[in-house]
Amino acid sequence: MFRTHTAGSLTSAQIGKKVSLAGWVHTRRDHGGLIFIDLRDRWGIVQLVFNPKANPAVHGQAEKLRSEFVVRVEGEVRRRPAGTENPKIPTGEVEVLAEALEILNESPTPPFEISGSDVISEDLRLKYRFLDLRRPDMQESLRFRYELTRIVRDHLHSLDFIEVETPDLTKSTPEGARDFLVPSRLTPGAFYALPQSPQLFKQLLMVSGFDRYFQLARCFRDEDLRADRQPEHTQIDLEMSFVTEEDIMNVVEGMTADIFEKLLQKKIERPFRRIPYEKALARYGSDKPDLRYEMFLEDVTELLKGSEFKIFNEVIEGGGKIKALVFPTPAGSELSRKDFDELTTHLQALGAKGLVWFKVKREDEVESPVAKFFQAGQIAALVKKLAARPGQVIFIVAGPDPGASILLGALRTHLAERYPLIPPGRFEWTWVTEFPLLEWSEEEKRFVALHHPFTSPREADEPLLGEAPEKVKARAYDLVLNGTEIGGGSIRIHKRAVQEKLFRALKISAQEAEEKFGFLLKALSFGAPPHGGIALGVDRLVAILRGKDSIREVIAFPKTQKGTCLLTDAPSGVSPRQLKELHIKPA
Ligand code: ASP
Repeated sequence: MFRTHTAGSLTSAQIGKKVSLAGWVHTRRDHGGLIFIDLRDRWGIVQLVFNPKANPAVHGQAEKLRSEFVVRVEGEVRRRPAGTENPKIPTGEVEVLAEALEILNESPTPPFEISGSDVISEDLRLKYRFLDLRRPDMQESLRFRYELTRIVRDHLHSLDFIEVETPDLTKSTPEGARDFLVPSRLTPGAFYALPQSPQLFKQLLMVSGFDRYFQLARCFRDEDLRADRQPEHTQIDLEMSFVTEEDIMNVVEGMTADIFEKLLQKKIERPFRRIPYEKALARYGSDKPDLRYEMFLEDVTELLKGSEFKIFNEVIEGGGKIKALVFPTPAGSELSRKDFDELTTHLQALGAKGLVWFKVKREDEVESPVAKFFQAGQIAALVKKLAARPGQVIFIVAGPDPGASILLGALRTHLAERYPLIPPGRFEWTWVTEFPLLEWSEEEKRFVALHHPFTSPREADEPLLGEAPEKVKARAYDLVLNGTEIGGGSIRIHKRAVQEKLFRALKISAQEAEEKFGFLLKALSFGAPPHGGIALGVDRLVAILRGKDSIREVIAFPKTQKGTCLLTDAPSGVSPRQLKELHIKPA
């Protein structure tokens, strides 16, 4: 038997017992005679003591131990001498007096300390991920992630869902990103695509009568990895038959409440809020509003009409909007000219023409380089409408809308991240609903689906698909947590004729539709039930709940922003023979 106990499990209950343990040398302290080793395994750390008087041979062996050596130890558990207990660790009352030691493997000095709290460069961590994952924080992140997925599985199982695996080698699906392609050896010149999501397969499973499906599905999207993205991510993917939006939302809320209660011992308020898409843009300047703080956007177009400020007048004449928000200026966050310049530059980089600010002095007096262009009455009315108090700052962005709102929304989140406006430990959920079905793509000069092209239009809007596609609302919903989109889904089109109509609105020809989605169209014509579903991003959810800034912190083997794996060096070249087999000419 390798071991009788795990290192992290020893307590005073084992005092006097002979135990054997196995694990890694976490730290080693030589106290002129006595050697103390913290022995680590997945369950924690326990102190070993090597006493030269009690057991000189074993002590001699222990002198050779270095960090991250792997050992097996036998010894007796005893109470630590009074005053030397360590209340910070669960095993802190006891120690093991070593009687036998076996070195199972050695290790060179690791490139960073596993036991330390130093900031380590991420590249180094990714290169030596197998060591990085030994760090207790990473162990906890992966354990937490596993617990979360287990709760999800149990929860969905209790609701009679079944998990079905769908293929990874498949046909291109249109979630809107670029596909990863895999050349086929057996069909020269043909390619599989890695799935961007199991979307079409889960719909087919509904046609097949499975009614309630889920999967912890890996999804592949070949995007430029701006922001915090990965080329492959995991989602909780689900689909149900004979349901409305309410049913899907109910399942998701129940599941998230279960996760919160079991993992964070927190109750969450249900039902979650619902904000229509247009209101989200108008009020928060974002379709994923962060509700942890206020700073709402207000439309002040009417109020600022007829000033001497040319820029605003031009915007108003052009049909644009003037949008304002109040920065509440928390104590110690008074903004200087330099701050205003920086905020302006920040917003200009995002595409704003400029940023107007008014520092409120009194109800009818503000400080601003452009104050002189406005009538005193206008300023007073502005301060009043926004309920801005002395010391606070009014920020204004003018332009075509929703562009202006989106820019001001970006300022809203920037201010919240930079100044202390977000209450710690707060989780604010909301659904965003009533999305448009389609949006105009300037690049492609055609309408494209805002979610994906299998999303059902609102029944009443269906006739508009032909003549006014931009007016059609979707039966779609996004789930947002703290300003981050955690998931999205919809009620799907379940009738072939409607699906064909939507393809026409998207300028997908009948021939192309047949080539790409013929199997779906066929399935829809064979008695497809009404159905709908959603997918939630596991990586993002775990990262937020663990308070991590990056999803790389909660993925065992992530890739860099350039899509490379520093551990394995993927992607990498392959042999000419492999290329030949795949009918690919070397570059
Ligand atoms: N397939 C969608 C996605 O992965 C989610 C859904 O509509 O269920 O984004």
